[in-house]
Amino acid sequence: MTAQLIDGKAVAAETRDEVARLCAVLRATHGITPGLHVILVGEDAASKVYVGSKEKMAGKAGFHSVVHRLPANASEATLLELVGRLNRDEAVDGILVQLPLPRHMDSAKVIDAIAPDKDVDGFHLVNVGKLSAGRAALIPCTPQGCMILLRKVLPALAGKTAVVIGRSAIVGKPMAQLLLNADCTVTIAHSRTADLPAVARSADILVAAVGRPEFVKGDWVKPGAVVIDVGINRLEDGRLVGDVETAAAAAVAGAITPVPGGVGPMTIACLLRNTLIAAVQRRGLSLPGLAI
Ligand code: NAP
Repeated sequence: MTAQLIDGKAVAAETRDEVARLCAVLRATHGITPGLHVILVGEDAASKVYVGSKEKMAGKAGFHSVVHRLPANASEATLLELVGRLNRDEAVDGILVQLPLPRHMDSAKVIDAIAPDKDVDGFHLVNVGKLSAGRAALIPCTPQGCMILLRKVLPALAGKTAVVIGRSAIVGKPMAQLLLNADCTVTIAHSRTADLPAVARSADILVAAVGRPEFVKGDWVKPGAVVIDVGINRLEDGRLVGDVETAAAAAVAGAITPVPGGVGPMTIACLLRNTLIAAVQRRGLSLPGLAI
């Protein structure tokens, strides 16, 4: 068997186009332009690239897009003051603090300071709690993107066995929660899981969010399974690989996301979705065609 490759680049472009279309409808019907404000502290090279892409894509979607750049030695109080100002500004719909923050700052404290209804990363405890309770929430962008890709190849998720390898607050846990909310039977595996290959082999849906290059081997994959590879790992030779041995897994799986061009492009597309959702929900509006 050779797996179907799930084209994240194409699905992300589709998602962004749909957000841009709905953004134009929101402007035409209510005179609202969603505002996305990203805060970048310091000079981390990867963060600068991510923030640049977010700014560009938000502009293209028709949003009012602003990046606030603070020096690496800015105080936590300065950052909290900026977050507070954006919380109070009615024109701001989405606030994203790019992580990681410099070591002298407490990320949890900063995330806790963001107004939950503007928390477009979905990391605030209120959104974590709502997702866990199965209520409408701003959902973390990467797992949200994984679900969109998954539904492209497997529209009926109820009753499927899902295994998520990784239990981070950003990817693994919310991913497991989304699968559970979609009526999958979910196992969360981690570094202490016994006989991980056997656990992985039980999965109709296998999600790898480990942060280790090509960690999941081909013989860990159940024949016909859908494999979602969240990993982004740069090898010493410069190659970008996921957390799954793609070629070996693709020989067994029914469908698989490639790296690059799988989950990666979905993250910013879902950030744009979240900003639009925040703009609509904060005002108690509804926008036909925007699934929340
Ligand atoms: P993380 O916070 O480092 O979490 C990694 C998880 O993997 C942990 O729960 C850890 O278990 C588990 N793990 C580590 N070694 C393991 C092992 N030997 N066996 C089983 N489980 C193991 O990473 P993350 O932030 O979730 O990111 C995971 C990957 O996704 C990374 O490659 C990252 O670059 C990528 N990522 C991609 C995007 C995107 O836009 N596509 C976004 C975010 C992250 P313990 O909890 O037991 O330590």
